[in-house]
This record gives sequence, structure tokens and C-alpha cells, in this order.
Amino acid sequence: MTVKMKEEQQSAVSDTRERNSLNGGQMRAAVYRGSSVISLETVPIPKISGGEILVRVHACGVCGTDLKKIEYDLVPPPRIFGHEFAGTVVEAGSNVTRFQVGDRVATHHHIPCRKCFYCSKKLFSQCEFYRRTGTTAGFEPAGGGFAEYVRVMDWIVEEGTVLIPDDISFEEASFLEPLNTCLKALETAELEAGEVVVVYGQGPVGLLMTQAARCEGARVIGLDFFESRLAAARELGAEFVLHPERDDVRGVVARITEGRGADLAIVAAASPRAIEDAQGIVRRGGRVLLFAQTVPGEMVPIDASRICVEEKKLIGSYSASIELQEKAAYMIFERKINVARLISHRFPLELLPEGIHLASHPSEHSLKVVIQP
Ligand SMILES: [Zn+2]
Ligand SMILES: [Zn+2]
Repeated sequence: MTVKMKEEQQSAVSDTRERNSLNGGQMRAAVYRGSSVISLETVPIPKISGGEILVRVHACGVCGTDLKKIEYDLVPPPRIFGHEFAGTVVEAGSNVTRFQVGDRVATHHHIPCRKCFYCSKKLFSQCEFYRRTGTTAGFEPAGGGFAEYVRVMDWIVEEGTVLIPDDISFEEASFLEPLNTCLKALETAELEAGEVVVVYGQGPVGLLMTQAARCEGARVIGLDFFESRLAAARELGAEFVLHPERDDVRGVVARITEGRGADLAIVAAASPRAIEDAQGIVRRGGRVLLFAQTVPGEMVPIDASRICVEEKKLIGSYSASIELQEKAAYMIFERKINVARLISHRFPLELLPEGIHLASHPSEHSLKVVIQP
């Protein structure tokens, strides 16, 4: 991916910027302009209506789904991405009762209708209403966290916004939504305590998944090609950390499962080879869950007999569940999950392209990238 930076009418930075920009109605934002171009622009601060709040963004995680939308031009521009954000309420509409100016909050940017066919089946992320993004910094709503201010729409204020305890940092709170997606994946996979889980990829998402599976009482084997990520996985509770090329992964799995194979494999890496391998590593009747395959049209080899004859299940999970919001908040606010350990880099808004480049070209030294607008 080539992320180009285009600077336009950049506002002068001064100590009084915050007050001036609120008064003057202008803010800085990183606007996606198509063809992988991110442009730092001065745009209007969003206006809110009665049931809405305006949040000053303090931390916003760079998410793999944003990277793919930018890299593969998956959605039409212009948009301001960034949905994993936390910040302070600076304005509250006259009908808002749950929050007031000064509150520290994080949001889930999608909320289901709870009335449709899909909601009745608890397939919340397939609900049409759920797909509407409820936070925006302008243009077609796309999160908005890569800007100074975000407008949080009324249905997100009511059901998707969470108060952050005083002792939890904004960047820790920005993991609420990503952790929720991992908890939802484990629920979808019907993970049970004591099961053996292989997590392919120990990047920021894989490490969240490893910790969440540990909290559910699973025995976790973390796989990655980077030593630093294997070290993090060990530190964060993986029972075994293995390098797919150097270590005998099948041998280890066989040894701890009486030769059966893993109960569950989670593919948290965008690698077709990992999917193929995962199908071999789970036991008969086991499950393979795809978690990183979000680009439409990606074809992968699948041995169909493993599904038919060996009764292995191939499943997927996408986005968050409204029913897991409280659990995700509990796990982060009580520090059952160590999210601070996952942050490797922090960038100001001006350096978002650098952050995006780093997040899409992982190295020994990189994990989660957080933007501080
Ligand atoms: Zn995300
Ligand atoms: Zn629905």
C-alpha cells in the first residue's frame, strides 16, 4: 500500500487551538480521499442535535479493517476512518441524560435494531441497521476517530457509549470494541473451558484473542513468525508459543490432546496457508474460525472432505455483539485483559499515514498503533 499525504490548509497549532477550533467551528482531520490517499485537512467540527454528543478524541486505534478499506479501496471516498476511539464529551444535546460535558467515554460505532430477522437470530452484525455507522467526523460516517472531534449519533449515545473509569486511560478504553469482537468470536465458536485453542497470528488481535480465550479457561497455543510477538503471547498467558516453521506445532498439539488435534483454531492472520493448516490441526468435529478474512473475493484452498467426512466446522465471526458490551468493559476496566501491553506506537494525527504503514507492515517491533488526534 502506498499511503500518500496531502496537506491542505493546515491550521496553525497553538495553545488556544482547542478553544479556537470549537469557537471557530474548525478542526483537523485525516480524510480518506480514495486511491490510498490520506489527506490532512481542516474540516468543520460536526454539529450535533438533541440526542447526540460531541467527543474530543484522545486516542484511536488503527484497525485492520480500516487498513484493508484503504489498501483495497473497498468503500467510496471521502471518509474519515477510525472507529476504535475514546475521548471526552465536549458537548451534549439537550435530550441527552446519560452523559454530560467532561465525561470520559468510549463507543461501539454499530448497534443492531433488535427487531429484524437477523437480530432475532442474534446475528447482530448482519442486521441492516447495524451496518449504519453511528459515529462520524463528517462525510459518509466511517468512525471519525482520525479527527479531533466526533459526533456520536443518538442510538450510539443510548446503547453504544460507555463511561470510562478514572483509573483507565483513553488508549486502554479504545480497546473496548476490538475486545468485544474477540469475545463474540469465541462465543460464536462455542469455546468451552479446558479446550485447546490454536491462535494463528499473535498481532494485536491475536494477542487479544489469546488473552480472551485464556480468561474463558482455554489452553492456548499461540503461533507467529515474530519472536517479539511470541514473547508477548507467553507473557499474556499462552501455554505454548510456537514458530510455525521452526517448531513442531502438530507434535505439540498431538501431545496435549491424546493425538486428537486442537478443539478450535482461530485464524487471526490474513494468510490462506494458515487456513489450510488450521483445517489440519483441529480434531475431527473441531472448529476453524476465520477472523481476518474481510476482503471480498478472496479464494482459499479447502479440503472439503475435512468438512464432510471429518465433520470439521469452518465458521467466521465479524464485528461486535451488543450483548457482550458489559463483559468487554468489565474485562478491560478490571484489567482481566492487558491491553496496554499491546500498544507499540503512538502517533499524532499528522503522522497517521506513517501509523497506517506501520500497522500494515508488521515488524518485530510493532503491535497496536494508536493515533492521538
Ligand atoms: Zn476495528
Ligand atoms: Zn436488526
